[in-house]
Amino acid sequence: MSLTVTGTIGIDSLHAPTGEATNVLGGSCAYFAAAASQLTPVRVVGAVGGDWPEAHEKQLRAFRNICLDGLERRPSSQTFAWGGRYFDNMNRRETLFTRLGVLEEAPPKVPAKYQDSKTVFLANTHPLVQLDLLRQFPNRPFVVCDTMDLWINIARPELTNLLSEVDGVILNDEEAMQLTECRNVVTAGRKILKSGPRSFVVVKKGEHGAILIHRDGVASVPAYPADEAQVVDPTGAGDTFAGGFMAHVARAGTHDFDTLRHAMAWGTVLASFTIESFGLDRLARLDAGQIDDRYRGFRAMTAFDSNR
Ligand code: AMP
Repeated sequence: MSLTVTGTIGIDSLHAPTGEATNVLGGSCAYFAAAASQLTPVRVVGAVGGDWPEAHEKQLRAFRNICLDGLERRPSSQTFAWGGRYFDNMNRRETLFTRLGVLEEAPPKVPAKYQDSKTVFLANTHPLVQLDLLRQFPNRPFVVCDTMDLWINIARPELTNLLSEVDGVILNDEEAMQLTECRNVVTAGRKILKSGPRSFVVVKKGEHGAILIHRDGVASVPAYPADEAQVVDPTGAGDTFAGGFMAHVARAGTHDFDTLRHAMAWGTVLASFTIESFGLDRLARLDAGQIDDRYRGFRAMTAFDSNR
């Protein structure tokens, strides 16, 4: 099933106890596509401004399996930019700045040749942009979205609207609690499912894994165990989880409960690589053998026999 993603393609400045990286390639859509492309072809819809560095374009193009025909270049606009700082334990971060740039303008257009996409991911961006993109797919694909604290704060009605039109949502524990005012993530997930998406909610819990709350059941996966030395920069872990998750759904060609349960494992494996370097560097050096080895290892760690 063909997979299309829209979201931010941006310039990130990252500060962590492990080091700093300024003006690197980032954005929800870029991370998602870099991860998904490891498993299946992915089509990108997005916009960048006149300040978009040639080097970033080259880095994105170097991922085979990413189609950039839906990337608009707007010479007189500014590219989305974001800065974040991680606290000592790397589990928490603060946003230093968000420059919306092209997000304040008309949403990018979905190219005609993408309109047959059967699977669509609306990565983090303004909910109005997500809604607009969703409506550009006339054939009602399987649609999943993400969101972030900023949009819950400044665009809650639009976000509520969006949630009622999608099949699933993937968000983190803090966002789920912020959205519902529930302190328990399972309760929060169920509450979101009741009033929103048709089929499921995934709540990501950082180093504590993720929970799938589906109309047909509940499933849980731990995070891939990483020791301190392996965690260099957690930026994009959520987007790459979504990339691995949706890529598995797209290549499976189904989206029943069991497929989504396995998709959580693929998402976890892809995210475990992202955090090993700043920006997209680790994903750029990844190969299928490394992914399969880690998936097999993860399966062995999490499988239980019955009656033992
Ligand atoms: P994650 O660590 O998975 O939450 O994703 C971090 C990425 O999301 C960074 O590359 C940022 O450029 C991008 N980002 C940060 N804030 C936003 C926002 N409000 N909307 C869309 N993308 C964002």
